[in-house]
Amino acid sequence: MAAAVADEVTVLHGGVVVTMDGGFRVFRDGAVAVAGDRIAAVGPSADVLSSFPGAASTVDLAGRILLPGFVNTHVHTSQQLARGIADDVDLMTWLHGRIWPYESHMTEEDSYASTLLCGIELIRSGVSMTSCIVLPQSQKDLYEKHHNTADGRIRIWFGLRQIMNATDRLLLETRDAAQKLNTGIHMHIAEIPYENELVMRTKGIDHGTVTYLEKIDFLRSNLLAAHSVWLNKPEIGHFLKADVKVSHCPASAMRLLGFSPVREMLDSGVCVSLGTDGAPSNNRMSIVDEMYLACLINKGREAYITGTTNPTALPAETVLKMATINGAKAVLWDNEIGSLEVGKKVIPLAVILSCVAFDSLMTINTAHILFPYSSQNPY
Ligand SMILES: [Zn+2]
Repeated sequence: MAAAVADEVTVLHGGVVVTMDGGFRVFRDGAVAVAGDRIAAVGPSADVLSSFPGAASTVDLAGRILLPGFVNTHVHTSQQLARGIADDVDLMTWLHGRIWPYESHMTEEDSYASTLLCGIELIRSGVSMTSCIVLPQSQKDLYEKHHNTADGRIRIWFGLRQIMNATDRLLLETRDAAQKLNTGIHMHIAEIPYENELVMRTKGIDHGTVTYLEKIDFLRSNLLAAHSVWLNKPEIGHFLKADVKVSHCPASAMRLLGFSPVREMLDSGVCVSLGTDGAPSNNRMSIVDEMYLACLINKGREAYITGTTNPTALPAETVLKMATINGAKAVLWDNEIGSLEVGKKVIPLAVILSCVAFDSLMTINTAHILFPYSSQNPY
């Protein structure tokens, strides 16, 4: 337990504390002590309260659930004004006919308003941290101007839209610049079969984008790959070897891309997180909905590819992990966010459940958090 002056501490107690720590501990009558913007203690209510008898304040959670804030690892904040402009079209039409014309006509003021709206909707679904792709500007200028601003809450990464509009020089210089500045790279990778076919045809390789990126030594642990739907087994191995992280966006994949091998990536040890993607890829901006969809879609995919059912595929615990601690790892911030642990930042999320439903439960199961919450849309 970290040393904290009791009269500066607030103790949240009497809740179900879902820590998402290394042991995935859950305290049914749990508490979290907060000092400044950091967690000073986590544990059973009786233990935490007795550790801070002179706490500045105590808050009775009355059985509410306390979780780490959710991490949404793939968003386009500047696309928030474009909801509904690109339904029922293929990705190339989506890009060329709808999104690029929209984005190329945006002013900075439009982008600012779009980002504000997007932020409001993200917060409403419990997202405390997001990784977004913005309109292209000088990325090094953005980094110098804004990296580590807002009390360290803003970090600037480099964005590469996709391999179809990136030269080898751009890819490799971005890789080197990110390494030098100790920051990350966010890029759409292996979204559709056409992308892989184009890369095979123009680069003379036997599979798609991931094979080529591995060949040119682009893959690194600071790379966050969005979507990554069309990967074969060796390519999952390339991601694992380089410790590349993935953002799985279930709704967007179902609209435009296809079934991602999420279960195979997770089984092999690849860090897979969750994202909503932008408004015109999803028409909503709720990470809770994405958790619900990830559970269902990946169970359905198992039945489709194996010919039999597997209800254990992507269980609720795994999906909650994807939305919290895996998200934090994907954005290289798990030393401060993604779980309720001593020393981490205080961005928890309280979720209210019906007491009647909850009292009847003999044990706490994360499925009880996910499914009742999303079906009622109480947020
Ligand atoms: Zn995207």
